Amino acid sequence: MSRSESHGAAGPPHAASVLTIDLGAIVANYRLLRQRAAPARCAAVVKADAYGLGVAAVAPALARAGCGIFFVATLDEGVELRDLLADAEILVLNGLLNGEAAVYAEYRLVPTLNDLGQIRIWATQCRRDRPLPAALQIDTGMSRLGLPPSEFDLLVAEPERLDGIELRYLLSHLACADTPDHPLNRMQRRDFAAAVRRLPGPSASLAASSGIFLGADWHFDLVRPGAALYGVAPLVGATNPMSQVVRLQGKILQVRNVDTPQTVGYGATHRFSGPTRVATVAAGYADGYLRSLSGRGTAYWGETALPVIGRVSMDLITLDVSHAPEARPGDMIDLIGPHHGIDALAEEAGTIGYEILTSLGRRYRRVYLGPEDGALSG
Ligand SMILES: *Cc1c(COP(=O)(O)O)cnc(C)c1O
Repeated sequence: MSRSESHGAAGPPHAASVLTIDLGAIVANYRLLRQRAAPARCAAVVKADAYGLGVAAVAPALARAGCGIFFVATLDEGVELRDLLADAEILVLNGLLNGEAAVYAEYRLVPTLNDLGQIRIWATQCRRDRPLPAALQIDTGMSRLGLPPSEFDLLVAEPERLDGIELRYLLSHLACADTPDHPLNRMQRRDFAAAVRRLPGPSASLAASSGIFLGADWHFDLVRPGAALYGVAPLVGATNPMSQVVRLQGKILQVRNVDTPQTVGYGATHRFSGPTRVATVAAGYADGYLRSLSGRGTAYWGETALPVIGRVSMDLITLDVSHAPEARPGDMIDLIGPHHGIDALAEEAGTIGYEILTSLGRRYRRVYLGPEDGALSG
């Protein structure tokens, strides 16, 4: 039996291009992060369908590796995850909106309370039902979600606002953790530590992937990595300690010889300056191969680098394969692979690895390698 058969392939039955997701690498990354963060505990962030890689495969693999705490962004993601993991602790980051409290209670989801109004809603639910767990998020510099300092002051002065709630976690989120020297890291750490002293009891959590690498002072009681689990480099410009999780192979559909004065693709943006071999590959911006990679992306045929020429279209890209004279229709080209990881592609696209991952489309055949299959990359 092949690897793909042993661990299930998903996606459309006749897909030409293949997305391979190495669950073993995700588990190895989880173990590395957990070890780095110890004695703090290590949760896993699986929002946005586990950053596009498929929560139904990723979350159970992490649970089997010993992860017991999961974060998602939305209530629907929490409900979906509860169906996959009956026993896990599941926290929902985006907050508790009016009318949602009963759903949180029914699916045993832990809401992140982001303002005093949400605290009131959950306290009401708790008094009606029973003491239920919650996380409280405070803003220390993102100005996005969480209690602003004025609301936190009020809460500390009037702690009875929390009556009935089993306050399990105190959270905040770093704005610049991928840049260790940024002064905001230290300020946010200081302000969060002060808040933890003023509201003792709940487990404190500040660090996501990058924050784990800022050092032990940022770990508190619980870390909550997402991107690093999936192979994204946690620190800008530093060696990536994470294992590569994703390989994306596009199939060559056609190869042709062209010469000047021809052009390739929409807008005729690339003009040939001499005899060139062009391969057309089955992936486009509808598959998450971002249009900003037009004339900028690099792909690999084995060890040979191939430039994307012309515009990325919806379903197709065109590569200059003059330096791979043996490349034939049916061959697989690495669009993300051992020579060109998520961050390298992101850099060419003018974005971050997070967006590359969460943009990966639905039209690939998806192959999941299990932990016992061995790694995608060495
Ligand atoms: C997305 C998110 C995380 C995970 O961040 P990564 O950088 O992917 O590790 C952690 N905490 C919060 C509040 C988030 O929104």
